[in-house]
Amino acid sequence: MDQGSRGGEGEATMTMTTCGPQRYLVLAGIAHTITAVLPAIVILCILPHDTPDSRIAWRVIIGLILAGYAALLLDLCGASWNILPVAMRRMWFRWLFPAAAVAGRVGGMSRDRVAASYLALSNRLSTAGIRGGEAARLLVLLPRCLQNGECQARVIEDVAMCRRCGRCDIAGLVSLKETHRVQMAVVTGGSLARELVNRLSPSAVIAIACERELVDGLRAITSLPVVCIANSRPEGPCRNTRVDIEEFRGALRALGLKGE
Ligand code: SF4
Repeated sequence: MDQGSRGGEGEATMTMTTCGPQRYLVLAGIAHTITAVLPAIVILCILPHDTPDSRIAWRVIIGLILAGYAALLLDLCGASWNILPVAMRRMWFRWLFPAAAVAGRVGGMSRDRVAASYLALSNRLSTAGIRGGEAARLLVLLPRCLQNGECQARVIEDVAMCRRCGRCDIAGLVSLKETHRVQMAVVTGGSLARELVNRLSPSAVIAIACERELVDGLRAITSLPVVCIANSRPEGPCRNTRVDIEEFRGALRALGLKGE
């Protein structure tokens, strides 16, 4: 994940605990209708109706469309019955995001608000994917802008360089890294985050960044459960950002890590 270099909109402070997935699910329903149902209707109109092959194609297309709506409805109700596998739903909701963001904009919703709701949904699916076990090799990715702007500690090289003076939230995060024995790194860009994920092969990732960077990061890291925590930006984008330590502790718990 990037350091939040593109920031968010003004001084947004929305995080996954303050925004539920419902808003995104409604927008995803609209996006599903526009990007899947309407093209499917066109295809069905073009296809001949009276051959065995076309009848099978009709059934498959209609089945996929209905399964999509059923999955949306069940997620909206918070049901635990998985009509589509969790990994497939994660992929599908990620694919729908651009169209859902456009639908949100038409309805007067900022991209960050849509993203916050999408991240809440993605987190729910990511933690469900762990299935009550423990994320054995967890990697935590931090944005550089979490570090106090005047601090000289070289936490980019190693978070253990933090002297824990308490001027920023890295002190609290490093303490939790030690009690929970997880890997943690400050990353300065999406390519570095991808390279770290490839090199360390974690079983899950917790990523902290602004909503926009988190959505981009989810597109880049497709094979793993990723729990996203949006930072808050009391001084504007990319400067002295903050993270809710309790939210981070909750994410560790959700991934089965209780600490020492
Ligand atoms: S807690 Fe203090 S030493 Fe550690 S990164 Fe923040 S400002 Fe630097």
